[in-house]
Amino acid sequence: MEEGARSCLLQSRSSLEQDIRASYLMDHMISDGVLTGDEEDRIRKQAAALLELLLRKDNQAYISFYNALVRESYGDLASLLHNSLPLVSPEAEKSFSDGGTRYVQAVLSEGGVPQRPVVFVSRPALVNRVREKLYRLQKEPGWVTVFGMAGSGKSVLAAEAVRDHALITECFPGGVHWLSIGQLDRADLLVRIQSLCFRLEQQSQEKDPSSSLHRPPGSLEEAKERLRFLMLRRYPRSLLILDDIWDSSVLRAFDIQCRVMLTTRDRSLADCVSGFKSEVAVESGLEEDQALEILALYVNGKPQRLPEQARSIVRECKGSPLVVSLIGALLREFPDRWAYYLHTLQQKKFKRIRKSSSYDYDALDQAMAASIQVLSEEHRELYIDLTVLEKDVKVPAKVLSVLWDLEPEEVEDVLQDFVNKSLLFRDCHHRPYLYYLHDLQLDFLAEMNRSGLESLHTKVVRQYQQRYSQGPPTSGDEECLYWFRFLTYHMAKANLTQELYSLMFSLDWVRTKAQIMGPAHLINDYVEYGAILDKENSEVRGHFQEFLSLNGHQLEQRPFPDVVQLALSQPDSSEVYRQALLQAQERATRG
Ligand code: ADP
Repeated sequence: MEEGARSCLLQSRSSLEQDIRASYLMDHMISDGVLTGDEEDRIRKQAAALLELLLRKDNQAYISFYNALVRESYGDLASLLHNSLPLVSPEAEKSFSDGGTRYVQAVLSEGGVPQRPVVFVSRPALVNRVREKLYRLQKEPGWVTVFGMAGSGKSVLAAEAVRDHALITECFPGGVHWLSIGQLDRADLLVRIQSLCFRLEQQSQEKDPSSSLHRPPGSLEEAKERLRFLMLRRYPRSLLILDDIWDSSVLRAFDIQCRVMLTTRDRSLADCVSGFKSEVAVESGLEEDQALEILALYVNGKPQRLPEQARSIVRECKGSPLVVSLIGALLREFPDRWAYYLHTLQQKKFKRIRKSSSYDYDALDQAMAASIQVLSEEHRELYIDLTVLEKDVKVPAKVLSVLWDLEPEEVEDVLQDFVNKSLLFRDCHHRPYLYYLHDLQLDFLAEMNRSGLESLHTKVVRQYQQRYSQGPPTSGDEECLYWFRFLTYHMAKANLTQELYSLMFSLDWVRTKAQIMGPAHLINDYVEYGAILDKENSEVRGHFQEFLSLNGHQLEQRPFPDVVQLALSQPDSSEVYRQALLQAQERATRG
């Protein structure tokens, strides 16, 4: 029964109990089909018992009771109930702005499913994907894993997916029960399952007073068995939603052959449980239009009329629903701080982006840190090494195999763990796969390891030098390209200026890099690191840059020209000429 009707009955309870003769009304209610003959026997002549029974029933029972009062000339009592009469026409059923019907609302609120956030944008394709997976649980128990990175909107999505009349009536007539999990130990888990069992038993007792309440289960094993019994016997064909699961041992406690949807950052969690499984990946970011809509809703404006910084904010956080909502909530209070919050985001001052009330983590950084904390210590250290990657750069596993000095297979395993925990993304359009971090993750890592950045870059350079002590790789594959593109970058960031000079003032490096990547990147390097190189020798830097500018078009040619020959045409005062001459002489002596 809907909330308003129930509350009206409770408020008018004493008047109703005193005045009515229940038996007169019950004939009408039996003929309406809302009371059974058995129920009539149990409560004969007891108005209090009739009301007690009524409170456990649905809207139809309330209406029938009201009509019975009218028919038996209890007009004054009927008028007490009149204002709260539930609407049951199909229009009324559809009248909720969130698309759910009253029935859906009642089922979800009984099951503790969170309501939509106040500011909400729909993600229809994603919601449909989840619903489609849930429909597969219509005939058999199983698991639907909704996975994605921190703050990508998994919980909101899971709640939204079940806000659907047809889905609930066709697949989960036993109800939908929401359980927030998060990071917890065994004792906490026991308490959570105890309270779930209590809630389920209480609801089932309301529907059937002959069923009894049990003492709470004392151990996890007992709790699991109690839940199994409840789900099988009392709540067949119901859906359990486990929100924010971190640990496979937690999931095992729910491996009781029921229907479960879980949200998690760890895609592989359901591997540890048995039965039919499917999954839905939640993209980390919203489309630009959706993200702008959130900002507009927070500030009560129109997306087209938002200031220019709005787009930059969305771009900066790649449309992360969490970040956009956090900033939206702040802007609601301080509507003229667009530039300030954009700047805060750009400066990665995450601590200033404080929580929105509906989110569990104090600030964005805690949400990110929580993901990293669950890694094993060994993997955490490896993950921190990824701080050195450049934004928007995708790397093959082989680069990390050099960085971590691990066999490629081991590296794949580590990366799989990161990907599963939504800490890393994999681009599957390439073979071999390429891996990359979300900008927010990279910003977070950079912020967290600010003081250790130099030594992290040094590690990259040292590991490269160790692997390629005989000379740089020449295969031209993704790994080789990475080193030619970013070795100088790592050296500069590591402040390894000596290494940077010897690399960039070497004709060998210039030849190989030009051959593999063309001259444009090389020229760019001399511009980018010009200031550092000039500290060693600005003349030599000039020689190399001049050589490249004069011969750029030649270095584009294939077959690749003889660089020594090209370099010999430089003025003899040039360092480039000097090195070329040495090489030519060496060639001559070798014959
Ligand atoms: P996750 O479960 O992936 O960590 P949540 O579902 O809790 O993420 O979402 C994080 C925050 O992002 C929410 O508190 C909400 O403010 C915002 N959010 C997520 N999805 C939406 C959406 N569809 N519309 C508006 N805000 C959203």
